[in-house]
Amino acid sequence: MPHRDLPVVVIGSGAAGLFTALEAARTLPVLVLTRSGAAEANTAWAQGGIAAALGHGDSPLLHLEDTIAAGAGLVDEAAARVLCEEGPARIRELAALGTPFDFAGGTFALGREAAHSANRIVHAGGDRTGARLEQALLAAARAAGVAIQDMAEATAVEVEHGRARGVRIRTSGGATHTIEARAVVIATGGAGQLFSHTTNPEIARGEGLALAFAAGAELADLEFYQFHPTALRFPGVRPFLISEAVRGEGAVLRNAAGEPFMARYHPLADLAPRDIVARAIVTEMQRDGADHVVLDATGVAASIDIVARFPSIASFCRELGIDIRTTPIPVAPAAHYFMGGIRTDTWGRTTVPGLYAAGEAACTGVHGANRLASNSLLETAVFGGRTAAHIASGSHAAADADPHAVAVMPHAIEPPSLTALQALMWEAAGIERNGATMRGARTTLRGWRAGGEGSPSALVAELMLEAALRREESRGAHFRSDFPALDNAHWHRRQVFRRAD
Ligand SMILES: Cc1cc2nc3c(=O)[nH]c(=O)nc-3n(C[C@H](O)[C@H](O)[C@H](O)COP(=O)(O)OP(=O)(O)OC[C@H]3O[C@@H](n4cnc5c(N)ncnc54)[C@H](O)[C@@H]3O)c2cc1C
Repeated sequence: MPHRDLPVVVIGSGAAGLFTALEAARTLPVLVLTRSGAAEANTAWAQGGIAAALGHGDSPLLHLEDTIAAGAGLVDEAAARVLCEEGPARIRELAALGTPFDFAGGTFALGREAAHSANRIVHAGGDRTGARLEQALLAAARAAGVAIQDMAEATAVEVEHGRARGVRIRTSGGATHTIEARAVVIATGGAGQLFSHTTNPEIARGEGLALAFAAGAELADLEFYQFHPTALRFPGVRPFLISEAVRGEGAVLRNAAGEPFMARYHPLADLAPRDIVARAIVTEMQRDGADHVVLDATGVAASIDIVARFPSIASFCRELGIDIRTTPIPVAPAAHYFMGGIRTDTWGRTTVPGLYAAGEAACTGVHGANRLASNSLLETAVFGGRTAAHIASGSHAAADADPHAVAVMPHAIEPPSLTALQALMWEAAGIERNGATMRGARTTLRGWRAGGEGSPSALVAELMLEAALRREESRGAHFRSDFPALDNAHWHRRQVFRRAD
């Protein structure tokens, strides 16, 4: 097939994949591959909203300052500037293509979230932002003629003469074949399913990172994984996110004695950065011998209609017999968002020509060591749009390689089960880490040697452990009890890995 007829192949149908596809489809044929149903994505579960400087008195500069402060010294300022400056226009674009954002007084209704210095969280359907966005993007992509193939799992990126040329897929019947591509975009989302407790759905296994790494691309910031402090903890129920916006409206965390405790840990109390809230909760749980604390929103009900503001949280809890207007919600931290990923520049380019990454699977450096709440949906649109623009430009140049990248040769590992891998990672690479536990986990992992290619998730787990072991300090979401202090003298830098061969 002549090259000009080949489609842009996008792997993943979350916000990053669909927005990239929509923008690219203005000029090029596009095929979206997705491993499950088209709407199965982290995106559909997002609640709180999307951050952008749209309010009076707010500005991209203030948003940038908050993003940099949250990232604990490692935010790539140039990339974050792009995110914050281009954010407002992308939100208007999302609204124009049909996302039914909530409005108040003729303008976007803006919520507040932790570590934001202004009200700048755009939302839809109250706390149904992600579901509404996913529906709108899917409808717009279909209307724009984007082909979407579901139940198609990408298992490899084909590289020829150093350039990405296609994607190997496995369909639901188990058949495998290769689809040739003009350019390949990895938009496979996060990796919450590498941990026992996670807010992420089953599709989030970090596989896109393994595909990119095998194709020769660089991975960055793998030690930085964000644990959300407040996921519902209820026996037999998957941790359902209780959005930060609930605390933004005034809900308070209380320990087993009913005492509000966050003011003891941080001046911003319940609105402190996520890593601090998550560790404070773990400390309180350990001291009380409890497996949860509670989030008390009963006081909020007097000032706002909390059920109308958070309809999905209210209805999910109601089904379990919890009326959030009158009963505190049992919560505990859970794996939530991967700051690290496939290293890209601000045009979505990886170091392999023709191979791009966007969304949570990518790592532009905008989050540094810790993500500012609601910046992730924004990055899907901002960098997804730029990725499409670069592909449409016809340029084949890749991003510059990182001269400090560490060459590593991973092992082919097949864990006995996903549950075993999740338990290992929760224990060793969870909210609090230390060298001895991580070294033990690495030994266990490597003991699970595979005869064949090994599991992509295990590869990502091994690299995450490697990055976390090497960083002998605590920074942002990466907390080591054996190195509890920030060490700017040695570690004011990012870690980048590439495959040794
Ligand atoms: C419960 C929850 C609440 C959140 N709330 C917010 C919020 O309020 N604001 C915010 O900004 N962010 C929030 N986030 C984070 C945000 O939702 C994600 O970072 C974002 O949606 C990621 O979008 P994405 O398109 O990169 O990935 P996803 O939406 O996860 O999409 C990934 C896609 O890739 C597909 N895929 C994966 N592997 C393969 C494969 N091997 N082959 C083919 N397809 C594959 C999946 O099926 C899926 O379609 C939340 C996340 C969760 C889980």
